[in-house]
Parts: sequence; structure tokens; C-alpha cells
Amino acid sequence: PVRSIPDWLRGRATHHPTHPAIVAPEGTWTYRELYDAACEYAASLRILGVSQGDRVAVIAKRGSTYAFMLHALMQLDAIVVPLNWRLTALELAKQAADAEVALLLFDEGATPLAKDLNREFKPPLGMRQIELLERTSERVERMHLQLTRAHAIIYTSGTTGTSKGAVITYQNHWWGAMASALQLGLSPADQWLVPMPLFHVGGMAVLIRSVIYGTTVVIHNGFDELAVNDALDAGGITLISVVPTMLQRMLQNRQGGYPPSVRCVLLGGSAAPKSLLERALAFGVPVNQSYGMTETNTQATTLQSVDALRKIGSSGKPLANMRVCIDGPLGPTDAAGVEGEILVSGPTVIAGYWNRPDANEKSFRDGWFYTGDIGVFDTEGYLFVLDRRADLIVSGGENVYPAEVESVLAQHEQIGEAAVVGRPDETWGQVPVAFVVARAGERPTEEMLTQYCRTFLAGYKVPKAFYFVDALPRNASGKLLRRALKERLEA
Ligand code: ATP
Ligand code: MG
Repeated sequence: PVRSIPDWLRGRATHHPTHPAIVAPEGTWTYRELYDAACEYAASLRILGVSQGDRVAVIAKRGSTYAFMLHALMQLDAIVVPLNWRLTALELAKQAADAEVALLLFDEGATPLAKDLNREFKPPLGMRQIELLERTSERVERMHLQLTRAHAIIYTSGTTGTSKGAVITYQNHWWGAMASALQLGLSPADQWLVPMPLFHVGGMAVLIRSVIYGTTVVIHNGFDELAVNDALDAGGITLISVVPTMLQRMLQNRQGGYPPSVRCVLLGGSAAPKSLLERALAFGVPVNQSYGMTETNTQATTLQSVDALRKIGSSGKPLANMRVCIDGPLGPTDAAGVEGEILVSGPTVIAGYWNRPDANEKSFRDGWFYTGDIGVFDTEGYLFVLDRRADLIVSGGENVYPAEVESVLAQHEQIGEAAVVGRPDETWGQVPVAFVVARAGERPTEEMLTQYCRTFLAGYKVPKAFYFVDALPRNASGKLLRRALKERLEA
């Protein structure tokens, strides 16, 4: 019989009952307590009618509440659908409808959002507030779940279009855990701080992988750089998972690094600006920078801290058991210098999206997942992620990567942030144009920025127009919505 996540949790509860599993502002729970909560909540959920294969949505602002539901639903072999409480009720209703959820679980903090969400449904969904679920002496315990079974449906961030439900299996989790352990050497001595939201794959991975290695998960409900820095300075925390904007805020007003107890800062979610990495490395902060996506259940490649300076700008090398190639003119290749769509295969890659035969046909072909990102390997096998394929600008037959132009613009002293998109052009097919947010009190001009760009970029990469705006459109994960800017150009 296979050992799946519920078996590991039970093992922890049996053999290391008093070891802390979760440390959150609202309380601390040992592995025994976490397991008991999971089994008892599972019994209440069963009374509500939850059974094997049912999709159950969870909107939770408290990490501990979310963790209890995550493990309770596993005991029932139900499929958890974590919802992002930063989205609007309408956006969430679309996801809940797509996943055909049988029940909506929400915690106190998410009550208004859950109610608004449910107003979109006729007839309304079954819904329950988690704090009001009764825990009785009744227990449900499930063992030996097949690794191929679906554990979760996690929606992608919706940066390039409608969010798609990635179906994550126990197998995806298992291999992800193996890869993390090989890279980080996880153990019960680790305390893993996740100030990130737990509804994305990154947050879920910390909760799941910790159970296998007996690691303690430290949860902050919401990101606060002072609280994070205090926690790291206090000692004890060994690992922390953050996105680049969080690290930026953590380091902003700091004079130096962190105590040696902090073994590694795990950075992922989007590309990190070089200036941020340089700052972190100058402080001696060990940073592992990852490239991955919902569909690969966290990292496909990682640039380890030891290589960080030497290979700055790279996303590193494939993780154990992962294959990463470029979709070259002669087929998949890992040869140096070939630019093209990044292909990933391996045991953490999902088998497909929920309910999306069209997208599955497009993205899952010949054993590869087509990431939609463009990249290139260098001669030592390090991957450089250039940009999303959908954002690539082809101007007079030359490729212009918005990310490259944006990083040049971002270094201009009068510019706060900038976004580059392609504008249709009769002569060139497309030309790059820039949307620019000036720093407070600054008034950069088009001529000035054109001159500046010419010193750093080839002529065809220099934006042909600059639009000065107050802010850039971003989605709930903070990712830039370039398609919204393209729509502005059409309007
Ligand atoms: P959707 O697929 O719905 O359009 P999304 O792709 O933004 O949304 P996620 O799965 O959250 O949804 O994000 C994964 C994407 O984030 C990657 O495909 C890539 O474009 C970007 N990304 C992640 N890590 C990095 C990195 N280190 N460097 C560059 N881009 C990255
Ligand atoms: Mg994507």
C-alpha cells in the first residue's frame, strides 16, 4: 500500500506527537493536534455530505483554519479548491462554478466575500463557516490514498486570460516534496515561514511538504515586513518563502542581512529584479530563485544561492526529475543559445486542467507541458526566462522582449515603474511602446527617455511612444496585466 499525505500526517502524530506542526498568530498546534483536528473535522464534513471526489471550495484568511480543512478534506478523499480572497466575488463565482463545487467553506474573516460569492449562484451553494463546524469524538481517517488521485484544483493567476484549474495529484505533491528535500535538506529542525498567501501552489506546497519531513510551518496571516524581519531576527526560522515584492519590502530599510539561522530565502512567483538580488547578496542573504508555475506544482528550475552572483538573471537548472527544454526549430532541445517556448516534463507537472479540453490540447503535447514562456539556455545549462510568449513583440522580424526593455526603464532615476507592449504598425508589424509611471515629483519627457533607451538598447527595442500614467493595471497576485494595456491602445 502507498504512503500518501494522510499516512505521513498520521505517522507524525504517532511518532512525534508533541512536535509543533503549525505556529500561527492565532495559536500553535502539534502534529498530534493537527491530525486530530483533521480527523474530527472530516467527520463533521461527512455529516454535511462531503464524500470522495467532491470538490470543496475553501476561502480562509487564517492559515491554521485553512490547514485544518486541507487535511480534513484529505481524510475524505475530497478535492480541495482553495480560493484567492483577493479576487472579486464574481471572479470567484466563476471558479466555483467551473469546479462544480459541492460545498463552500469559509472562515470568519472571509464571511462577506463568501456570501457575495454565493449570491451569484442560483440555487445557492451549500456553505459553512469553518469556526462553527462541530468537532465531535467521531473521526474519519483515510489511509493509502492512490497517488494518482486528485488532491486539489488550484486556479492559475489569470495573467494571460481566464484562470484555468490545475488538477494537482498526490503524486505531484510527493515528487515536489522529494525535490525540495534534495535541494534544502528538510528536517524536523526546520521552521518554515510562509508570509505568502496559502491558496497558491507555493503556500500549499509548504503545508504539504512539511508533513513529510516533520518541519514546523510558521504562518503570518498577511504580509508585514516588520513582522517578518522580527521573526527572522529572533532566530529559529530556517526557511522563508516569499515573492520578489515581499523581499524588496523586507530589505528596504535594513542595514544588513539576517542571522545565520536563516538557511535560505526561497524566492518565486515571478522574475526578481537584478537590483534586488544584488542587494540581497550584498547582505549575504542566501537566496534560491525559482522559476515555476501552478501547472508544475512549484519550481521547474532553481538558481541556487551559490550560483546567484555568477549567474544573476538566470532561473537556474531543472530540479531533480524535471526535464526542461526549448521548443526549437528541430524539436525539443537543451542546446545553448536556442530561443523558444519553454517545455517542461516531470512528475510534478499536472496531467491537465479541469474541464478545459481546448487548453489541454494546446498546452499538453507529446509528453511536454508548453509553458507559454520563452527562454534560452546558456552554455553551462542555466535557463534564462525571457518573457511570456503572449507578450513577445516582433518588430520587423526582430524579437523584442518587454521584460528586457522594462528592466532598462526601471533603472531610470525618474521612473517608478514601466510596462512595454506591442502596438500594431503598418511598416514593422509591431513596435514597442511604453507605459510609464513617474516617481513622485518627477516629470520625465519622451525625448529624454528615448535618448536614455538608445544608450542601452538596440534601435528596434527602443519604445516608439511613451504614455505617462498614474498606475499600471495588475491582477490580484500583483502581476502586470499587459493585455489591459493593449486594450487601451486599441481604444
Ligand atoms: P495564467 O496562466 O492564468 O495566465 P499565470 O501564468 O500568471 O496566469 P501562475 O501559474 O501563478 O499564473 O504564474 C506562473 C508564471 O509566472 C510563469 O509561467 C511565468 O510566466 C511567471 N514566472 C514565474 N517565475 C518566474 C521567474 N523566475 N522568472 C520569470 N517569470 C516567472
Ligand atoms: Mg500561466
